Amino acid sequence: MFDLAGRTALVTGARGGIGRATALALADAGADLVLWGREALPAQHSGAARPAGQSLADVAAQIQARGRAASVVCADLDDAEVVREAAHRVLDRHEVDILVNNAGTIRRAPAAETTYADWRAVLDVNLDAVFLLCQLFGAPMRERGGGKIVNVASLLSFQGGVRVPAYAASKHGVAGLTKALANEWAGVGVNVNAIAPGYIGTANTAALRADPRREPEISTRIPAGRWGEPEDVAGAVVFLAAPASDYVHGHVLVVDGGWMAR
Ligand code: NAP
Repeated sequence: MFDLAGRTALVTGARGGIGRATALALADAGADLVLWGREALPAQHSGAARPAGQSLADVAAQIQARGRAASVVCADLDDAEVVREAAHRVLDRHEVDILVNNAGTIRRAPAAETTYADWRAVLDVNLDAVFLLCQLFGAPMRERGGGKIVNVASLLSFQGGVRVPAYAASKHGVAGLTKALANEWAGVGVNVNAIAPGYIGTANTAALRADPRREPEISTRIPAGRWGEPEDVAGAVVFLAAPASDYVHGHVLVVDGGWMAR
């Protein structure tokens, strides 16, 4: 029920955090991987200002060491034309059975101080690119009569959050889009679902974890008593990518240490 041998999965934002853990978990379940990121080489080679961590090439090597195929596609998700062009390059070379729309960005500021440029930057990556990739990779899935799409939503698909208005709007949008696509595509064998991670220790939450007021507010509210690790989230993605979830459509699966139950 959880065997992904013979399947090809595309994961966006696969260089680190939840994306990297997810890509490795999908490979462990037997899938070959297409890793979508901004740059293949380590940041010191590209000269880009990028959070420390592994390169996409490193992640690809870790997947190949597990005996699975891994290729890399580099394209910024903030430009619809670039996204379309890169997606077609992937589609020319791969039959993608599993699409994990993981990449995401966040800008922290009160709504009154959020610039339109910041609003757009978040919506472009977190929602517009997700829509485009679902459309582009969903088309051959529908033709084949099978496929799995897993979008990465958030607790801020349900809650408003604190000083992240564009992020909350984008993630509510991801949940809505997931359900809308599930309504349309469940009947042709394509599963569209989402996971909603809780508070996970990644670059996305580095500022929160460093905030002496917000960090204890958050950690003391989590019933599990700790922040999540990227690996805590990856198993839920494998489930939604695997035959085990064939009758699950339009679900937003929270993986949050109990936050939403509180
Ligand atoms: P992360 O380590 O910052 O990962 C975000 C990924 O998105 C990175 O690989 C990043 O690429 C990529 N990305 C950002 N902007 C991009 C762009 N314009 N074009 C292409 N790629 C871009 O943080 P994470 O926590 O693992 O985030 C993964 C997903 O989980 C996001 O959708 C996030 O919103 C969601 N999420 C996270 C949490 C949490 O607590 N951490 C909670 C709920 C939801 P680079 O590697 O090049 O920077």
